[in-house]
Amino acid sequence: MNNDKNYSLSTLCVQAGWTPTKGQPRVLPIIQSTTFKYDTSEQMARLFDLEDSGYFYSRLQNPTVDAVAAKIAALEGGVAAMLTSSGQAANFYAVFNICEAGDHIVSSSNIYGGTYNLFGVTLKKLGIECTFIDPNSSEEEINAAFRPNTKVLFGETISNPGGEVLDIEKFARVAHANGVPLIVDNTFPTPINCRPFEWGADIVTHSTTKYMDGHAVSIGGAIVDSGNFDWDAHADKFPGLTTPDESYHGLTYTKSFGKGAYITKAVAQLMRDLGSMMSPQNAFLLNLGLETLHLRVPRHCDNAMTVARWLEANPKVKWVNYCSLPSNKYHHLAEKYLPKGSCGVIAFGIEGTREDAIRFMDRLKFIAIVTHVADARTCVLHPASHTHRQLSDKQLMEAGVAPDLIRLSVGIEDVADIIADIEQALS
Ligand SMILES: *Cc1c(COP(=O)(O)O)cnc(C)c1O
Repeated sequence: MNNDKNYSLSTLCVQAGWTPTKGQPRVLPIIQSTTFKYDTSEQMARLFDLEDSGYFYSRLQNPTVDAVAAKIAALEGGVAAMLTSSGQAANFYAVFNICEAGDHIVSSSNIYGGTYNLFGVTLKKLGIECTFIDPNSSEEEINAAFRPNTKVLFGETISNPGGEVLDIEKFARVAHANGVPLIVDNTFPTPINCRPFEWGADIVTHSTTKYMDGHAVSIGGAIVDSGNFDWDAHADKFPGLTTPDESYHGLTYTKSFGKGAYITKAVAQLMRDLGSMMSPQNAFLLNLGLETLHLRVPRHCDNAMTVARWLEANPKVKWVNYCSLPSNKYHHLAEKYLPKGSCGVIAFGIEGTREDAIRFMDRLKFIAIVTHVADARTCVLHPASHTHRQLSDKQLMEAGVAPDLIRLSVGIEDVADIIADIEQALS
């Protein structure tokens, strides 16, 4: 039932990906095997040449992992998906699959710190340059960042930790006018609250570590392809997809795999050469999380809205940034792209010094200081002294992170208890 458009997201969360036949386990089994048996040498050879599909080595593909990838593809409304060992690996592969040394990408500057570093520092070492743009710029201004060798436009649906909402349609228009795909990191809203393909995004990535897993038990990532970008129409820009791959006996991905070209290439080349596969155990845990995603995400959003309103009304709180609040700068975009709710992550600053912010966090009781967001347990983090500490003050501001920003990830506990804990720490 993977791509059955007749099923709602709730049903897909529970059922998609694994459809057992007679006598098979009802629950997705963990296929821990690294290897798979064939009867003849010829059968195996055809797999290596990508002439047949089938499993042969779990670094490339594994049945447990594939079932969970298929569920995520169904949830996003994509044609194909792959899982990676982390969200970082997902964003790296999503870009590197269509870029090489000498190429250029354009990215929103309001993105996760790890991705900012990946694009600004590590890709540069591989010969790929990134121009960061303010996502609130006009189409003309974003357009001006493009070069003849630009291959990707990138943004986050809701930025981590700044909480800015991406104008996906605007970004899609600019990307397509320049003949490149729009890649959107949809980690925070999850497909329950936003499906970027419906607004023109071509490829979606996830850190499944966050709400999708939802219990903080497995690091993981996903790349989903909408199948909508016409690589052949821009063949000169994407020779890796549209001309023969000598490492697979001259096979051309778009010719042999059609709408599956992008994901097939990423598996066949990048997983083969760079690894970063999700383990079957982690895929199993991720699947358990996905089975309740449609229940947990609305609860995170309801709790976060109640906490955001309470913070906004509190005189000890200097500012609150939560895109679903009517007072928020991004509220009009949230209403358009996130009508059901945004996410459970709130950013705010309290009156006083940076030390007061740290003292407030240290006084919290069950709300823990952890380097994580978006799981069942409410937690806090001070990005300027934790996740983003490698960035200068200027880079912090460019990444949408005020030095006094406290990131509160609201969990699914009773919201009255969450507010009581914040209240006692503020007093
Ligand atoms: C956490 C996160 C990542 C990185 O994912 P990991 O699973 O930690 O590697 C990428 N993008 C966003 C928006 C994130 O929140």
